[in-house]
Amino acid sequence: MEMTEEQFTIIKQQIKDLVAIPDGFYAKKFDGIDVDAIQDQHDFEKLPFTDKGDLRASYPLGLAAVPPEKIVRIHSSSGTTGTPVIIPYTKKDVEDWAIQFARCFEYAGVTPSDRVQITPGYGLWTAGIGFQAGCERLGAMAIPMGPGNTDKQLQMMMDLHSTVLCATSSYALLLAEEIAKRGIGDKIDLRKGVIGSERWGEKMRKRISSELGVELYDIYGLTEVYGPGIGINCKADSAMHIWSDYCYLEIVDPATGEILPDGEVGEIVLTTLQKEGAPLIRFRTHDLSRIVPGDCECGSPYPRIDIITGRTDDMVKVKGVNMFPAQIEEVIAAVDGASSEYQLMIDHVNGRDVATLLVEVEPDANKYELERVIATEFKERIGLTPEVKPVDLEELPRSEKKTCRVFDNRY
Ligand code: ZN
Repeated sequence: MEMTEEQFTIIKQQIKDLVAIPDGFYAKKFDGIDVDAIQDQHDFEKLPFTDKGDLRASYPLGLAAVPPEKIVRIHSSSGTTGTPVIIPYTKKDVEDWAIQFARCFEYAGVTPSDRVQITPGYGLWTAGIGFQAGCERLGAMAIPMGPGNTDKQLQMMMDLHSTVLCATSSYALLLAEEIAKRGIGDKIDLRKGVIGSERWGEKMRKRISSELGVELYDIYGLTEVYGPGIGINCKADSAMHIWSDYCYLEIVDPATGEILPDGEVGEIVLTTLQKEGAPLIRFRTHDLSRIVPGDCECGSPYPRIDIITGRTDDMVKVKGVNMFPAQIEEVIAAVDGASSEYQLMIDHVNGRDVATLLVEVEPDANKYELERVIATEFKERIGLTPEVKPVDLEELPRSEKKTCRVFDNRY
């Protein structure tokens, strides 16, 4: 993607300011690099990446690019292992995040007359409060539920006539199933779902959308770069517009770090353009997507990325075959009678790797037949034959947070 002149000017000044901070994060990271020699996009692309490990090593506040009195809030990304990452925000950062989030709601067609039920978590985690700030900035009514307590969620949804549901895809699915089970669909006024922070397949999307009777929007973001709300899809398309006045976007080959041409799938790398508390240069998100070339028919000037295909670290290798969860979803989506939920278990038994795929199937499906069809489809698309075990609907766990579907039990 071509960097605009404005973006280049901002980035260059930002780098100069950052390396001038005594003992600052980038003063150390870019030590030995002549930043005055950065003359164009090509030079910028030679700068080293910033990775989550760098951020972790700066715990607690080593990332701060402003004096402590300018920091008004911190958030933290949940490291699955070891030290968490702490991201400091200034007053402007908090405001800028709300501006971006309000823009997301606008793109989703949310208006001040909407009532927005927010189910993502609050606290150190960036989700809930981001949804709320964006909603309030837009002027809609925020209903800050936070996660869990499905009975209360549904009661409030009915009593307050919530029109917009903000949730992870797995919690949206859980609520949709619960609404159907209780037969309360006619008391629900939802018209839109704003779904964040999880990669999800087309089949799941269709189920949530049809069971809840809502239009669905995918919101993108990560704690290290504000939080959710740095982009969303529009009414015209499923690809997400990224607010390029706040972030500069690159897609790189996760193995080599080389920039990939627009349209090719790789790792999303982000450079913040306006952040004060913790600006990031070429931050590796580990999210996989591609830049969607060309203009969107909605007329938006903001560039687009596709729905997140997966995480670079979700990739598993079994018998020499690389696979991503998104590919497994494609296999399941292609088979009639298979539902959207699955689990892939990888075990090491008697000296060899075994992949077992549990798939929820429709009640009237022929399980024996599906076993064969799914295994064949898997082999054709991914290059490996798993042991397929069809299970009944709702047999696999749903989660209020991110649902893990691939379990590598080999190590
Ligand atoms: Zn658009």
